[in-house]
Amino acid sequence: MADASNINADQRELDKFGELAHRWWDPNSEFKPLHDINPLRLDWIDKTAGLAGKRVLDVGCGGGILSESMAARGAQVTGIDLGEKALGVARLHLLESRQKVDYRLISAEALAQEQPAAFDVVTCMEMLEHVPDPQSIVNACATLVKPGGQVFLSTINRNPKAYLFAVIGGEYLLRLLPRGTHDYARFVRPAELARDCRNAGLRVDEIVGMSYNPLTKRFWLGHDVSVNYLLRTTLEVV
Ligand code: SAH
Repeated sequence: MADASNINADQRELDKFGELAHRWWDPNSEFKPLHDINPLRLDWIDKTAGLAGKRVLDVGCGGGILSESMAARGAQVTGIDLGEKALGVARLHLLESRQKVDYRLISAEALAQEQPAAFDVVTCMEMLEHVPDPQSIVNACATLVKPGGQVFLSTINRNPKAYLFAVIGGEYLLRLLPRGTHDYARFVRPAELARDCRNAGLRVDEIVGMSYNPLTKRFWLGHDVSVNYLLRTTLEVV
């Protein structure tokens, strides 16, 4: 098991995902929201990144929902996570899907030392709100991508509405997610994430919001970044 004591990770967060990992590919499980949003974010990434033939790194890949779908678009994908169980599930699922993804138990920071500037595209989705030091992850993503390459990030905004929708709505009212999935204090405002990106040499090209209608059970991308949002950035060539 990965030792999270001296790295930028919270063991309790990793354990939380580990306990649920066997249900990762059940589209009606706790991971339903990730299944539901995946086609949206995949198309949004592919539109500007042109995934086919690219070397892509998926940071905090979990059971591999996004990793596999990018591989299916023709990308050569590496998925990393510090959750051993999630990675086990991700590897097993490759037998079923017949996709090819290289899954590794390694931190973004350690891989950045090992393979700087190795990837055309780096994705880090729904993960920053679970780590102690998001800036360190953003820095690692910037080191891992080639100059001129793109880094795609997504997380949850920090404001009363986000608390209401993501925590109270998602975990208590709609029961989309298990209670305790999210720690409000770790949510990241777009301005904070944009600052972290600029500090890392990443130019912010686009920010889009992701909204959910509980009545129609539909997700869509748009201008409202008040709860869930995604950032598209490019590593500046210096
Ligand atoms: N990115 C995937 C999974 C999101 S769930 C998707 O959007 O489909 C969050 C994932 O982040 C979990 O798999 C958890 O194990 C992982 N995670 C949490 N802290 C991490 C860290 N410090 N380093 C790497 N992965 C981490």
